[in-house]
Amino acid sequence: MVSPLDWLLGLFSLDVGIDLGTANTLVSVRGKGIVINEPSYVAVDRKRGNQVVSVGREAKLMAGKVPKNIQVIRPLRDGVIAEFEITEAMLNYFITKAHEQSFVPIPRPRVVVGIPSGVTEVEKRAVYDATMEAGAREAHLIEEPTAAAVGAGLPIGETRGSMIVDIGGGTTEVAVFSLGGIVISRSIRVAGDEMDEDIVQYMRNKYNLLIGEGSAEKAKIEIGSAYAMVEERTMVLRGRNLITGLPESREVSSIEIREALQPSVEIIVDTVRDALDETPPELVADLMESGICLAGGGGQLNGLAERITREVNIRTWVAEDALTCVARGAGRILEDYDNLRRLLVGLERGSTHH
Ligand code: ADP
Ligand code: MG
Repeated sequence: MVSPLDWLLGLFSLDVGIDLGTANTLVSVRGKGIVINEPSYVAVDRKRGNQVVSVGREAKLMAGKVPKNIQVIRPLRDGVIAEFEITEAMLNYFITKAHEQSFVPIPRPRVVVGIPSGVTEVEKRAVYDATMEAGAREAHLIEEPTAAAVGAGLPIGETRGSMIVDIGGGTTEVAVFSLGGIVISRSIRVAGDEMDEDIVQYMRNKYNLLIGEGSAEKAKIEIGSAYAMVEERTMVLRGRNLITGLPESREVSSIEIREALQPSVEIIVDTVRDALDETPPELVADLMESGICLAGGGGQLNGLAERITREVNIRTWVAEDALTCVARGAGRILEDYDNLRRLLVGLERGSTHH
């Protein structure tokens, strides 16, 4: 039962869904959609006890261009919360910012945060505490693949199975659902960042050209692919020649970038295949009808859906608005709280960090 006061607060307060991603943090607010979409970066001053200098877009712009005492950190880089305090500071900054965007003074928000699947109890507690510290009235956690599936509109509550492959920056999460629960899941540390790394390695090995991660990412997004393109393309990459030490530019083709991406793509496809191998046959039969849904930024890699379709013989497609599925899905839980609360992750009592 809700008290009349809680009911009244509920009418006016913000319902907020947060995607705490390894590459990007998104905040969705009920009735408004995505209000924040910024890189999960924090710049701290090492000389002043890790004082936060900037967060998000501003911090990402500082990467690689700051004095020695300033360090730019991705606190969730590998899907684990490597630095609690910094993650807390980042969450606090984004929640406060979302709350400030309202024009009227309103009660504190109810928040659902998507967390990488497989994080430890201590990490869960840290995210919960950070969310409450940041001024939430209620904080709930949900595993990212579940939020992604809800955001993508998959019917995960039904007996009929469905499958999501969420490819982010640091991790790829594969999950098969039935009756609202995860039946099979896989989480690997191969995703968008590793693809960028593949391209850096390829350019170094083939052309002795050292390019930055940013250029590699640009090449991946603009001309990268996992399957032969209808029209192959080229682009110019700039870097430093490792033999002469001089700046150099080099034209590369989409065929070369596809070859470069091959190692990561293959690992992702193999992971999907492994998950299918372990899925009970009745659910596999369902998946042959419902298909495989790709989400996350990496899911948008050109030709990846087609590649998976061919390799595992199940129709694969990219979710609409693949980058915002987790944030929208997390927010959606609060809109239909009574029905969807069972998708949330519980916290063990008494666990604590520090
Ligand atoms: P996370 O959930 O881990 O924060 P995201 O879902 O935000 O990650 O995805 C970020 C990753 O997606 C980055 O590695 C980025 O380079 C990659 N990405 C974004 N758009 C594309 C695209 N069109 N093609 C391939 N990769 C993409
Ligand atoms: Mg994600």
